[in-house]
Amino acid sequence: MAGLQEKVSKRRTFAIISHPDAGKTTITEQLLLFSGAIRSAGTVKAKGKGKDFATSDWMEIEKQRGISITSSVMQVDYDGLQINILDTPGHEDFSEDTYRTLMAVDAAVMVVGTGKGIEPQTKKLFEVVSRRGIPIFTFMNKLDRDGRSPLELVDELEEVLGIDAYPMNWPLGMGSGLLGLYDLYNKRLELRGADREHDEFIPLDEEGEAVGDYEFKSSSLYQQGIEDAMLLHEAGNEFDLDKIKKGRLTPVFFGSALTGFGVKTFLDAFVDLASAPDSHELMNGEILEPTDERFSGFVFKIQANMNPKHRDRIAFVRICSGQFDKGMEVTLDRTGKTMRLAHTTQFMADSREEVQSAVAGDIIGLFDTGNFQIGDSIYTGNREIEFKPLPQFTPELFMKVSPKNVMKQKSFHKGMEQLVQEGAIQLYKTYHSQEYILGAVGQLQFEIFQHRLLNEYNAEVEMTPMGHRIARWIDEEDLDTSMSSSRNLLATDRYGQPVILFENTFAENWFKDKYPDVTLHQLM
Ligand code: GDP
Repeated sequence: MAGLQEKVSKRRTFAIISHPDAGKTTITEQLLLFSGAIRSAGTVKAKGKGKDFATSDWMEIEKQRGISITSSVMQVDYDGLQINILDTPGHEDFSEDTYRTLMAVDAAVMVVGTGKGIEPQTKKLFEVVSRRGIPIFTFMNKLDRDGRSPLELVDELEEVLGIDAYPMNWPLGMGSGLLGLYDLYNKRLELRGADREHDEFIPLDEEGEAVGDYEFKSSSLYQQGIEDAMLLHEAGNEFDLDKIKKGRLTPVFFGSALTGFGVKTFLDAFVDLASAPDSHELMNGEILEPTDERFSGFVFKIQANMNPKHRDRIAFVRICSGQFDKGMEVTLDRTGKTMRLAHTTQFMADSREEVQSAVAGDIIGLFDTGNFQIGDSIYTGNREIEFKPLPQFTPELFMKVSPKNVMKQKSFHKGMEQLVQEGAIQLYKTYHSQEYILGAVGQLQFEIFQHRLLNEYNAEVEMTPMGHRIARWIDEEDLDTSMSSSRNLLATDRYGQPVILFENTFAENWFKDKYPDVTLHQLM
């Protein structure tokens, strides 16, 4: 199928990861701008601390621009390519979904603020992406402000994240003194123009000097910048596309998302170097090519109440092979049942449209009435296609939970069971008293859980925060019930595996000293 191959090769499916406020929303907006999906740039205002749980960073853009981005996936055309950007919510809506979304992308863009450098959430998200061995591109943002020195930033990146870095361009100055970008990759100097359309490009000669007579060439900013860049070029890492594709070398770009400076240079290199959809290894060891004619995909996220008025639920499917056509019949791997995919949605920047067709690399949304669970595979053809299970992530926040009304025990249990199965939250029981504990990676998961139990199951719950805990699994044969105390609470997960919830690292270390032979395991 030549047509399929060509379509697949044009897909770039990625997520932007960052610590809140590094500039993820702003750079997403720039991408929309460059792709022509929106027409004018405006600053996306600082996000409100609203309690509306359905908010995502994109909804801010949506509100400001009056366009419908509606949640988690956006598809735009850029430079003849079809780009799928998946949102990884930060802030108060940070959750396991954020991590799982990273299982559905082929590359990641990591936005780092030059003022703050690598921050905790950047590191967490980086680690999840890094384990997948997919390309990671770094954008050092906010160059229009005075920040830390570029050398220091690149050093920190390598040190803290443990990845090699390759500066693709190098800033000459910063803040109000920013002259431009010394662009080693494109062999040109990018000068700041009056606006993003008018950046000026000056080619570099053999020696790496800007061609032509310019006043700035005698400035120390220019000379020092070139010296640093050259030094890095000689002493630093080599450009190695293979290492980039495996996520072992991150190309680093400098720029300013707010003013648009360096953004197009970054995007162009990104779409050029980032991989098109790749093959997947299945449970049976088979390698499934994206151009395989059999359609297949997996559910990585289920979002309920996208529109509170309709109470709809959408299962997000990453297509891994073949082509999706509206109305096609697929098999759901978990149950072996077939179903027709009639009600689907695709996510364009300017509208939420019914999908007619989509190919490997794309994300489709299936309207769901409770058929799907996170991690489900769907496929066409007679041969089963079973993807490797999605990893589970170690929760960090915990809550004790109980039904408010004892008469409603039944709906409480039903709701709990279904929501846990859906992957919305993790459930534990204290070993001794069999009390329910919920675990999550983000606070918002609790709020959604509470809200949904009430609205969908009519069960009101009492929640008692336990705060942060360090969850570590132990082997069953190591289990000793006297291990449990308030500082290291013994519990079981929903599969009955023993897990200890440590109050803090101190408690964990104390435990390790006391039980040196017990191995502590963690999820991802
Ligand atoms: P997010 O939380 O990562 O999505 O960050 P935002 O894109 O919302 O940006 C956070 C704040 O930083 C906003 O006030 C932006 O206007 C600002 N910001 C983003 N990019 C830049 C930049 O390149 N320069 C400057 N000076 N501010 C920026």
